[in-house]
Amino acid sequence: MLKKVIAIDQGTTSSRAVLFDSGNNLLDFEQMEIEQHFPHDGWVEHDPEEIWKSVVTVTDKLIKKHSLKSTDIASIGITNQRETTVLWDRNSGKAIYPAIVWQDRRTADLCKGLKKEKGLEQKVQDKTGLLIDPYFSATKLAWILDNVSGARKKAEKGELAFGTIDSFLVWKLTQGKHHKTDATNASRTMLFNIDSHCWDDELLQLLRIPKQILPEVCDCVHDYGDTSVFGGSLKIGGIAGDQQSALIGQCCFNPGEAKSTYGTGCFLLLNTGNKKISSDNRLLSTIAYRLDGKTTYGLEGSIFVAGSAIQWLRDELKFFKSADETEALVKHRNNDSKVLVVPAFTGLGAPHWDPSSRGSIFGLTRDTHIADLTAATLESIAFQTRDLIGAMESDGANFSELRVDGGMTANNWFSQQLSNILNLKVLRPKVIETTALGASYLASMHAGLCPDLESLKSNWICGKSFVPEEKDIAGLDEKYNNWLSAVERTKGLF
Ligand code: ADP
Repeated sequence: MLKKVIAIDQGTTSSRAVLFDSGNNLLDFEQMEIEQHFPHDGWVEHDPEEIWKSVVTVTDKLIKKHSLKSTDIASIGITNQRETTVLWDRNSGKAIYPAIVWQDRRTADLCKGLKKEKGLEQKVQDKTGLLIDPYFSATKLAWILDNVSGARKKAEKGELAFGTIDSFLVWKLTQGKHHKTDATNASRTMLFNIDSHCWDDELLQLLRIPKQILPEVCDCVHDYGDTSVFGGSLKIGGIAGDQQSALIGQCCFNPGEAKSTYGTGCFLLLNTGNKKISSDNRLLSTIAYRLDGKTTYGLEGSIFVAGSAIQWLRDELKFFKSADETEALVKHRNNDSKVLVVPAFTGLGAPHWDPSSRGSIFGLTRDTHIADLTAATLESIAFQTRDLIGAMESDGANFSELRVDGGMTANNWFSQQLSNILNLKVLRPKVIETTALGASYLASMHAGLCPDLESLKSNWICGKSFVPEEKDIAGLDEKYNNWLSAVERTKGLF
């Protein structure tokens, strides 16, 4: 039997185990939602034990369902929600505090203070490619060290280990034998120098983070150890953060190629080749992937709220029972509706970076219907993408098309509206599970099932393309200008 690959995709809302054949064709998957905890305004937490158990459950189910033996599986790849911060005890393997999720804004004041230090913002950007923001792991880690009793002392004694979700899973899967992360995840911590590829002593000192708690940083294709959790011995051969993994899954291997993923949040990532581009427009420079010690850089725009705004309409406002009903619902919208939704539930990400904004709705009239609010929410994600494309173009990028993926792109009305609002061809691949696919590519490379990235390009097949519709573009520019003023009015309100 030809060997198979399992991709573990630990996302913000769910954990998935995805089975691929030796040619990276998706065969099957198992999925389980994980609980979101919102203990205070702007705080978002996960239970690390629940994350771990969900990963074991879905992987185990998949293996049993297909009666796979360890010899049938060539390798495991991991992709994960990035920046989310876990600090655990090296002896017990138990986290000392809940995972602080990437969306969490509790360190906004700490970041505000850091930004006031002369020259620090520029220094952080030069070293890490990032901006000072609660989004990244560094201040979340500092918060746990400062607020959990005894944590700092234990950390200094080397009794604790820090990691993003990939490191935590590798630690658990290898039963504490390996404390490693990959370069893409490290590049999101705000502690890693993306030129020298070292943890940065100056930033560690600034936040009083002991170096001994940090994982070893490795290539995306690497021997991350073996796991015996599922019976037999399985190799972990590849890791990349979810957005970088989606870039790989979308086969954006050439400078200038870009993908945008619409899941819980939206992330536009542009391959910039072996050149790190320092943005003048508040975008992030990041590591797209590192293979054989060779780094490919990316320019990224991150929007914190995309699909989670649809979840809000579903769960809090009870507009519909399932997200896929939105496509039919928006057909009932009022064509004259001027409603604009700014879904800044946890602040605004790129290019605004305002952690103190909160959501707002403009243009309500007596006849505003749930269809208008749903359409405006979907449109807000497209307007935010236009903000990012504009910022990237000002940094010198040139877009001829955009590859998209993620749960929201199953919605044809949204994908078409995205093309109209961006005035750009939008391509949705046949396989929209690109995040898991990227991890499968990395694991297959480690197992020798494919030689290099180049050999994977022919796997990318377009499922549906959306071109701008002339009739709908008129008026969208005006609406976009209104969007920009709505954002300005929302900023700094709280
Ligand atoms: P993640 O990997 O971040 O958990 P997914 O890529 O699975 O996210 O996408 C799920 C998100 O997409 C959810 O927030 C959901 O509200 C949204 N979503 C799913 N299907 C649709 C749809 N047909 N229309 C609009 N939004 C959708």
